[in-house]
Amino acid sequence: MVIRITRDKHIFKFGPKLKPAAYASPGDIVIFETYDCFAGQIKKETDLVTHIDFSRVNPATGPLYVKNAERGDALVVDILDIKVNDIGICVAVKGAGVLGDKVKNDKTRICKIENKTIKFLENIEIPIRPMIGVIGVAYDEEIPTGTPYKHGGNLDTKEITIGTRVFLPVFREGGLLAIGDLHAVQADGEICVAACEVSGEVMVKVQVLKGLAPEWPVLETNDAFYILVSDENVEKALREATDLAVKILQSSLNISWEDAYMLASLVVDIQISQLVDPKKTIRARIPKQILKDSSKILSAMKASF
Ligand code: CA
Ligand code: CA
Repeated sequence: MVIRITRDKHIFKFGPKLKPAAYASPGDIVIFETYDCFAGQIKKETDLVTHIDFSRVNPATGPLYVKNAERGDALVVDILDIKVNDIGICVAVKGAGVLGDKVKNDKTRICKIENKTIKFLENIEIPIRPMIGVIGVAYDEEIPTGTPYKHGGNLDTKEITIGTRVFLPVFREGGLLAIGDLHAVQADGEICVAACEVSGEVMVKVQVLKGLAPEWPVLETNDAFYILVSDENVEKALREATDLAVKILQSSLNISWEDAYMLASLVVDIQISQLVDPKKTIRARIPKQILKDSSKILSAMKASF
């Protein structure tokens, strides 16, 4: 069955009291229509971020109730397709991003997207690589959709793209999945605070793995697994992602902690997803050459409830 959720059904907080916008059974295909992260408030280059209503920033379409998803399960989301519309928005904002103190003038750039290419300036064109900025489930406390954490949320991770499988821990009955904040393209770090922001739609398949809620979101691509850890403090996120990767190698390969630590230094890449959201997101990449079985990874980092 294909279920469509229109963009007028959206949330600004992942919390314990969300009301479902739609229902799905495991195996269903669901299409989420999404606003851009400014909820369509920026239409031309004279529209600046400082002019918009901030209570409407980062809408996430949903939430979707998935039958049979209970606390302690993993919600499995296969990203089958991402379609982006033809207008992309880039912004520079005083005080925002890694170099916010150096921004002298707020600026908006509207980029035309044509033939899978973003026209940033007349002579600067970039191929699109559509990705999802916000993907998450209901959490035990209210967390704004602009913040990433254990439930997912504003992960701004370029690997959350077509073909990727996302594993999220289920906290509340039905999971209550919401998706928004598409980017036509984004580089690691998302250093200026935003990417090429765009509206569009996402097609996913949802499934449930009983009793395998991971402590942090996990991605699976063709060639690797990624553990996504977010914290206000980048060093803390780095340490936690590294600690988890070593723990996963140790228990999945049944080797000593020290061997796993040395092995991680050879094969695990520690990468930066974004450095600009209220919590920063770091990812540990474990190649499938070393570990192929997602259930071993999920078991090794099972959340305790
Ligand atoms: Ca974002
Ligand atoms: Ca964004």
